[in-house]
Amino acid sequence: MSNVFPSRSSSFAEMLSRCSPREVSGYLGRSRRDFLRGAAGLAAGSALMSASPFVHGQKAAKKRKVIVITFGGGARDQETFAPEGQENIPHMLHDLIPQASFFTQVMNQGILGHYVATASLATGVYETLNNFSAVPPEHPTVFEYFRKDLRRPASDAWVVAPSNGFNRIGDSGNRSYGPDLGARVVLPKHLLRAAISGSTDYEHLLRDNYETPLYTPPIAGGEFELQQLERILKLSVDDFKAHALTASSPDELSVFIARRLMQQESPSLLWITMHDIDIAHSGAYSLYVDAIQRTDRLCAELWQAAQSDPEYAGNTTLFILPDFGRDADEDSGGNGFQHHRTGDAASRTTWMIAMGAGVREGVIYDRPVQSIDLVPSLGAMMGFSPALSQGTPIKELL
Ligand SMILES: [Zn+2]
Repeated sequence: MSNVFPSRSSSFAEMLSRCSPREVSGYLGRSRRDFLRGAAGLAAGSALMSASPFVHGQKAAKKRKVIVITFGGGARDQETFAPEGQENIPHMLHDLIPQASFFTQVMNQGILGHYVATASLATGVYETLNNFSAVPPEHPTVFEYFRKDLRRPASDAWVVAPSNGFNRIGDSGNRSYGPDLGARVVLPKHLLRAAISGSTDYEHLLRDNYETPLYTPPIAGGEFELQQLERILKLSVDDFKAHALTASSPDELSVFIARRLMQQESPSLLWITMHDIDIAHSGAYSLYVDAIQRTDRLCAELWQAAQSDPEYAGNTTLFILPDFGRDADEDSGGNGFQHHRTGDAASRTTWMIAMGAGVREGVIYDRPVQSIDLVPSLGAMMGFSPALSQGTPIKELL
C-alpha cells in the first residue's frame, strides 16, 4: 500500500477498508506530514538527527522543567491538520509547530477511555483499570519516578485534571511508590462546586464527563481542597468565583489554575489534562470545533506564560499530545467525530508536539512511536528512571 491515496471520496472508504490498521496508521502519519509541510514549512527529520540541542549536565537537569498538555479528548485531522481543518488550530500551526519537533504517528495500543488512557500516558504502561472507577493506576506514575529518584518535594509535581474521575491520577497503587511520592492533583470543577454552594451561574463549567454524564465518582485521596486556594495559590474563594464567571469552559478554568500554580509554586513537572473537545460525544459538531479552537489557543497561552516567567523561560520543554483520536468516518462501526468506540486506526493514531529546551525546532518525524514512550523519554530528559515503564525513550528527543 505504498501507492498514493486518491483524494477523499467514496472510493477512499473502500480503499481504507482493504488496508490493515498498520497501513492506515502509516497513511495518516504521512498525510499529516504533508499537511504540515505545506502549512508550516517544516523539514523532514532524518537529515537533522545528528545535532541534538540537548544541554547535558547536572545543573541543567536541576533547572529543567517539563509541561505536558493532553489535547483533550482527541480530534480528527479533518478539523485540525488537514487543509479544511487548519483554520481551527492557527496557534499550533503558526506559533508552536514551527518551533517544535512534530511526531506524526503516535500509536495508542491501549484502552480508549480518557482516564485509563491518560493514566497510561502517565505511567508508560498500557493500564487496564476500569475507566469509570475511582482507582489509582496500577504502575508507578511519572510523578512518583520523578519525585523519588530526584528527591523532589510534593510542590514540584502537579496535575490539573478535568473531571472528578481523574482524582487518582497523581500516584499509583505500587507499594514502592504511592501517595507520599505522587503529584498534587487539582480538580478545578471540584473546587468550583465546593466554592459556589448551590449557585446555578456556573453550570457550563461543571459538566464533569461527556461520555457517561451520570458517572460522578466520590472524591477521595490527596486532591487539592478549597482552603488551599488561599494558602498555595494566593487566591481567595471570592476571586476564584469571580474569575470562574469569566471563563467560557472547564479547560479555561484549568489553564487559569495552571498559570496560578506556575506563578506560586513553579513546579518542575506540570501536567494539564484538557477535556473540552470531548463534548463531541454530545453530537454537537459546532461545540466540538469551538473546543478545538479554544484548546489550540489555550496551549499557546500556556507556552506564552512559560516564556514570560523567569522560572520557566529557556529551561522548559512542552509536550502536547492527545490521549487518543476519534473514529474515522470511513469505519462502518463508527460515527466520525462523535465517539471513539471502534478502536480503529484513526482513533489510535495520534501525534505529538515537543518543543522548547532540548528539542530540535521545525522537524517532522514519521517513525511510529507509542503513547507509552512519553514517560521513558521524560525520564531520559530529566534524569530519573521509569523502571516499570514498558515504553522506549524516543531517540529523536535525546
Ligand atoms: Zn470521549
